[in-house]
Amino acid sequence: MENMSGQTLASPAVLILLGPPGAGKGTQARMLEERFGLVQLSTGDLLRAAVGAGTPAGLAAKAVMEAGGLVSDEIVLAILKDRMAGPDVAKGIILDGFPRTDGQAGALDALLAEAGQRVTAAISLEVDDAAMIARVAGRYTCAGCGEGYHDEFKQPRAEGVCDKCGGTAFKRRSDDNAETARARLEAYHAQTAPLIAHYERAGVLERIDAMGDIDAIAGALGQIVARVSV
Ligand code: ADP
Ligand code: ADP
Ligand code: ZN
Repeated sequence: MENMSGQTLASPAVLILLGPPGAGKGTQARMLEERFGLVQLSTGDLLRAAVGAGTPAGLAAKAVMEAGGLVSDEIVLAILKDRMAGPDVAKGIILDGFPRTDGQAGALDALLAEAGQRVTAAISLEVDDAAMIARVAGRYTCAGCGEGYHDEFKQPRAEGVCDKCGGTAFKRRSDDNAETARARLEAYHAQTAPLIAHYERAGVLERIDAMGDIDAIAGALGQIVARVSV
């Protein structure tokens, strides 16, 4: 499959980005989309859209998300399956924030097996917990295009103007405060971190040091994606 920057991927890749809140999953997923023509699937974004639209799933998820807990596997899987039926996912996908529990990982394996596919790589972004609170608390995004920014670590080139779309409206997530971030980190360690062993057993785990700067991490990640996707 050819893409804009001329990199070729042999078959549709199924990549998973694992890591706690603030690890840089969304930031890196968007960069991989541009570089490899892959499609980012963020269950967090899908759930926030459901909350915004006031669907039954959104109504059920809202309070759990506000408290920094994990939404039920049933709701998350229904939303994800719906999105995976979209025609664009045939280009290959980057799962950002999914799976987050054993049940979700098993359901994903089964869903892929039905289509004769499997996980190409699960890439664990390895970071220090303490730094994650600061990353989450300073996060904001462009209201127009969704580009992610940070008060300290990733400011727009021109103050108040989005680098990507020129928009001037930005927003912050209500769950991006230090207290909720701590609850989300706890949920990560209790329920999501064990998935690292699941993918290690499956022989598809890659680890990456995600404490460096955004471009250095993107470089290392790009090398992994190019290697596993051939
Ligand atoms: P996640 O999707 O894993 O929760 P994000 O990609 O949204 O994480 O990043 C969290 C915040 O940290 C954002 O404000 C982002 O701009 C910033 N950020 C992302 N990667 C880095 C990095 N390597 N160093 C410093 N800040 C980062
Ligand atoms: P972050 O980028 O900081 O890791 P997300 O945007 O991925 O956060 O998720 C925000 C919230 O949405 C989570 O705290 C959780 O409540 C819910 N959520 C997102 N993905 C999942 C999932 N796969 N399973 C359960 N809950 C999820
Ligand atoms: Zn923008």
